[in-house]
This record gives sequence, structure tokens and C-alpha cells, in this order.
Amino acid sequence: MDYLSGLNPQQRAAVETTEGPVMIVAGAGSGKTRVITYRVAHLIQKGVDAFNILVLTFTNKASREMRERIEKVVGNEARNIWMGTFHSVFAKILRVEAEKIGYPSNFTIYDTDDSKSLLRTILKEMQLDDKLYAVNIVLNRISSAKNNLISHTEYLANETIQAEDISNKRPLMGIIYETYAKRCFKAGAMDFDDLLFKTNVLLKDHPDVLNKYQHKFKYLMVDEYQDTNFSQYTIVRKLAAAHHNICVVGDDAQSIYAFRGANIQNILNFEKHYPDLKVFKLEQNYRSTQNIVEVANSIIANNKNQLEKNVFSDNEKGDRIKILRAFTDNEEGKIVAESIAQERALKGLNYADFAILYRTNAQSRAMEESLRKLNIPYKIYGGLSFYQRKEIKDLIAYFRLTFNPADEEALKRVINYPRRGLGDTTLEKISVAADQHGITMWEVICNPHQYLDGRIPAQLNDFVTMIKSFAAESKKLDAYESALYIAQHSGILKELHSDDSVEGRSRFENIQELLNGIKEFAEREDIEDRSLAIFMQDVALLTNDDNDKEKDKDTVSLMTVHSAKGLEFKNVYIVGLEENLFPSQMSLTSRTDLEEERRLFYVAITRAEKKLVITYATSRYRWGTLTSCEPSRFINEINPSYLELEAIKAAKPSFSNGSFDTERKSWSQQRDLAPKSATTSTSSPTLRPKTTTILPKAHVPTAGFTPNAANEFQNGMEVEHEKFGFGKIVNLEGTLPDIKATVFFQGLGNKQLLLKFAKLRIV
Ligand code: ATP
Ligand code: MG
Repeated sequence: MDYLSGLNPQQRAAVETTEGPVMIVAGAGSGKTRVITYRVAHLIQKGVDAFNILVLTFTNKASREMRERIEKVVGNEARNIWMGTFHSVFAKILRVEAEKIGYPSNFTIYDTDDSKSLLRTILKEMQLDDKLYAVNIVLNRISSAKNNLISHTEYLANETIQAEDISNKRPLMGIIYETYAKRCFKAGAMDFDDLLFKTNVLLKDHPDVLNKYQHKFKYLMVDEYQDTNFSQYTIVRKLAAAHHNICVVGDDAQSIYAFRGANIQNILNFEKHYPDLKVFKLEQNYRSTQNIVEVANSIIANNKNQLEKNVFSDNEKGDRIKILRAFTDNEEGKIVAESIAQERALKGLNYADFAILYRTNAQSRAMEESLRKLNIPYKIYGGLSFYQRKEIKDLIAYFRLTFNPADEEALKRVINYPRRGLGDTTLEKISVAADQHGITMWEVICNPHQYLDGRIPAQLNDFVTMIKSFAAESKKLDAYESALYIAQHSGILKELHSDDSVEGRSRFENIQELLNGIKEFAEREDIEDRSLAIFMQDVALLTNDDNDKEKDKDTVSLMTVHSAKGLEFKNVYIVGLEENLFPSQMSLTSRTDLEEERRLFYVAITRAEKKLVITYATSRYRWGTLTSCEPSRFINEINPSYLELEAIKAAKPSFSNGSFDTERKSWSQQRDLAPKSATTSTSSPTLRPKTTTILPKAHVPTAGFTPNAANEFQNGMEVEHEKFGFGKIVNLEGTLPDIKATVFFQGLGNKQLLLKFAKLRIV
């Protein structure tokens, strides 16, 4: 059993304790995921049937990687393990059981766009103020009700909730929830939260089904347990109720989804629910250098609400953490891209060893631009997924309608795309008729003379005939042939082919890419049913990260900190460490939210194995306006002894007493120096952070800038250049009056300057 030799004694004990409830709450990089991986391999080695094991991971990518590792130990058997995200695993179960709760087994999964579109329709029909009842707010409210297992009937009956909605001036929220739920049901559709909510309904109302899955999943494991919400927690508890063979691993310091209903109570409750619980502690971090682990510890120590934990590393001490300042977001991108190119060349690394992490997706733009300029290949994770592109969604909507004609969001999307003269008025008439008669829009258009007044456009009948022919053909053809048939006969291929613009061509290529993907699926040998209907089942759950083809490419990874959870990279750049961005502006009003932002920063730091670089810009475009920014309070929380001295100096022009306050002061001075005419107007006043607008000047020298004479400089001196900012002399050569200095400027690298001309002063 030599696979167990890759574990320390605590990890090994956790792996070998296969029976009864087990919990591991341990710091980042301590091998929690490794324990789950080995535990599954161990169970199979011990003779447990892989079909009886269920592993719930946070992303599809994580489960794919885990499966690959397990396969190395146990071989092909690994394919039979039930493994995936909560959403994908329970969507699969719902496909089998849907009819028991009144849904067709080919139910559609509504993605967030579909949910919002449906809500917009409902809000419009109810003639509600779309500012007060903003779609995002309404959707969040419904989502959090579902994640707390509150049905629309319970919502409407609950006086506390009603009172809350009334005090928020949104008394109709319950009615909207009810309408939304009923419309989804009528359309044979479940939204993302429904996949868990309906699983709960299924397990609650059908003891036979619960019993079946309790016996099927004899061993349950949950990674990233700290981020489960009540709905997920309840499913896990129910499934484990018969045998108690449940193992959860997590880290309260990495709980970063409270805003989506994740609840730290789930960790605490676990102990209460299972008195025979065995708790294992893992304290050694195997991922990162000592410096990185110490920095992470020092940051999280600022949080009041956390479980006591000791994390240490036996790895090398490693480089100190670098903090780099840029003057604009574009310059920040440039600094990061140049640093990656340099590090890669210097240390012989791959692009895949680098990750750039940011707080918000919008920050990727500046990074991408700079990476492209240096021809650095990169991949954005978790951004707008391939499956979210308009042309892909259009074609997929045809597929959806083919298999589930009740799917109203799909119908609305394609009834007049490509244009066939069935405009908004017709659509509205259909929608009203469907509502009046309590039937689906599809039923209306199948019998238009019965339900619609006035002239019925002939195209309506053609549309129905077309969709019906798609359904008939797809019964005869394989996934690829069906998809191609639909793409051709719906007119989508022709429509895109005729668009000769660059965008048009790229849209056409995307459709081809989708068809290629379906072709691969149709040729797979490890699955029995390779029909388009099966391909379609999980498409709504797919993300960009699931594109297998991209997997092996050597690229720099770009992603939000949220998507970086559980991952690790040799070199990590955390960018945009500024007040109002990280921590986000939204979080600044409450301690709870601020602590969540700090945990997010902790997650970001602990992704790094060898080298960590933190950057911030002093001005940045946000919401269409240039705003000046202050460095994040989190930078201030890092013990300066872990920082690279050079970096501290560069970041703090007037560093004197070991705190960043002096720096802030000098920055406000800089701001005052900036010409007022640079102020641009803001397009979104409500969202705008409280900052002053300044010019994106490369460097604004401190007041009273007087250059020194050429003979006053020495090697190693800290200097300030009028344009390049703060730097350090790394070499001097030549004789007076022609002395040439090589100065290292943060973010710019080395510059050669002739001292008699360069406006340089000693700081
Ligand atoms: P996170 O909290 O970020 O999810 P984690 O606790 O799940 O982290 P892992 O990802 O399992 O930690 O492990 C971190 C790294 O340390 C991985 O590269 C893993 O292979 C390695 N590792 C864990 N335990 C050991 C060990 N006993 N010996 C050698 N390497 C180990
Ligand atoms: Mg992990």
C-alpha cells in the first residue's frame, strides 16, 4: 500500500478512518483535498465499489483532477465514482427522478440569463418599478429563499419575511417569487438553485427515493465544506443519515461565499449532529514557502471570527513578498506582464506556472492587453463562458426547444431569430394568450386559431413544423448529425455565414467549435447514449473551465479570487489591492463583510507556492470614469518584515515610521497637485466610490522637486526621477561630467540615465 506513504501521520489517519463521520477543518495547503483523493483511492483498494462513493467538489475542474489522480492508483475503476459539483451530481439524479416531482425528465436548466429574462417579463407584466424591483435584487431574494429551503408558499405565509419586504418597500416580492416558480414549472425548467431545492423536495417527499440513494452512496465526501449553503448541507445530511459514513473537509478561514448563503454554522453544526464525530487536525502547509504562509497567517489574524488554527510550513523560507505600485491600471498590467516574461526567462518556468488573480472580472481587460502585447498566452477562467456567447445560446435554444417545447425562454429567444417576421407584437399576443388559458406558449402556437385573434401569420405554422421536424430527425440521428441538421435548417448557419465582418466570422467559427465539441461527444466510447438530448442535459452547467482541449496548453491563468479556490500556482500576482476594490466598496460598511473580504485575500495569498507579488494602481478607470485610488488596508496589515525592502520603499515615498499612514499623506498631496481640469464626469453616480478624479499621469513628483548634481550620487542610493518615479541606483559608470547611472524603477525595470541631463534627486 505504498500510495499511503505520501501522507503525514494525521493525513493518513484521516484516510484510514473510513467508517463513521469525519471532519477536517484545516488551513490552506495542508492537504485536505489530498486526503479526500487518497481516501477514495483507499476505499476502492479496500474493496468498496466505486459506484457506492459520492464525492462533492466545488468545481468541475477540481473533480476532473481528482478523478485523474485516483485513476493513477486504482485504474479504470475511478471512472465509476460519482463525483462532481453539487449542481452537476444532483442534476443527474433529478433527470432520473424528475417525474416524481412533476417535472419531465428532459427538463431545461435555466441559466442566470434565462432567470433574469423571465423575471423581467414578470416585472413588466406586473407593471412594477424596475428600479425598486431591480432584477438582480429580486433574483437574489428568490435565490436566498431557495437556498434556505423556503418555498414560495412558505415565503408568502411567513410574517417575518413579509414584514421585511414591506420595510424594504418591496411588498410584492412573495407574489413575484410565486409567479416565477410557477412559470418555471410550466416551462419544464429548473434554475440553478432549483437543482438543489428540488433535490431536497424529492428526498423529503419520497422516502423510497431517499432510501435508494442512501444505499447507493455508502460513502460521502465533501470538499470545501465551509462554502456549502443550507440547501446543500441538508442534502448531505439526509444522504448520510443511514450510514453516517461522511467525511467533510474545509477551512473556515476560506469561507468566501456567505453572500450566496454559505454558512459557517454548517461546520459548527456538524459536530452537534454527529456526537461520534472524529476530528482531524492538519497543520503543515505543503504548498507554500514559509514567508507566504506567515503572511497569510498575519493577515487572517486580523479577523475576530475564526476557529483557532496553527499553520506552518517546512518548505524553504523563500522570497519576500513583493508589492508594486503602478500609476494606472494599464501600467499595472504592463508591470505584471513584464514581470511574468522576466521571471519565466530567468527561472526557466512555464507560462502555466503563473496566475493573475483579481477581485472583479472587469480587471482582466488591462491585464489581457498587456499580455497580448508581449505575446504571452493566457486563459481566462470563469469569465464569460463559451456557452454564454450569444450565437451559442441561440443555437442551443433551438436544441432546447427541440427536446422541451414548453421551454419559454428558448422559444422567446429564437421564434424570430433568424428574422422570420414574428416580431414583438406577435410574441406578446402569444404570451398573453398562454397566460389567459393557463397553457404554454408552445401550445398556443400549435393551435393558433383556437387561442389567437386576428390574422395569424403563416410563419407561425412554419416555425412549429420546423421545430417538430427537428424533434423527429433527432430521434433518428446521432448528436452531431442532429445538431448540424438544426443549425442548417433553423437558418442560423446561413445567417452567420452571410455576415462578413470580423465579429460575424468569429461567431461562425464559434458555432463550428460547438459542432466540433458535439462531434467529439458523439464519438465517445465510454457512454451509451450519445444523442443530442444527452449532450444537452448538462450544457447549462458547463463553464469555460470545462473545455478539455484547453487543458494542456501552456498559458498564464487569469481569474477572480473566487474562482481560484483550491488551486495552486508557482507564482501568483494579486492585482488591484486598493481600497474600494479589494476590499470591495460594498464590504466597507460592516465587519462581517470586511472579514469575508479578508478571507478572500487569505485565499488569494495561499494559492502561491514560491513567489507572491501584490500590485496596486494609484488611478484606475472604474464605471467609465478615472478615479484615484488608495492602497488597500490589507497591504498595511502585512508585517513589513515579510516584504521586499525595495518594494516597501517604492510603495512608500516618505516611509519613515514603519506605517503606511505617511504614504497616504504624501498621496493626498500628490492628488492636490493634479490639475483639476482632468475631472471627468461619472456615468453611474450611485455606484461611484468616494474618490477624487485625477489625471493618469505617469508620475507626479513631490512638491519642491529639485534635482541633485551629478557628483552627489552613489551606488545603491534611493532616488526619485521626475517622470519615472522612485527607484534605486544599481550601477554607475563613466567619469564626470558624463556619469551614466543604471536605475531600477519599480514597474519599469532598469533605465540608463546620463546624470547631467536626468532630473534625478536623492530621497
Ligand atoms: P486548500 O485549502 O487551498 O484547498 P488543501 O488543504 O486542500 O488546500 P491540497 O491542495 O490538498 O491542500 O495540498 C496542497 C499541496 O500540498 C498539494 O500540492 C499537495 O499535493 C501537497 N501535499 C499535501 N500533503 C502532502 C504530503 N503529505 N506530502 C507532500 N505533499 C503534500
Ligand atoms: Mg483543497
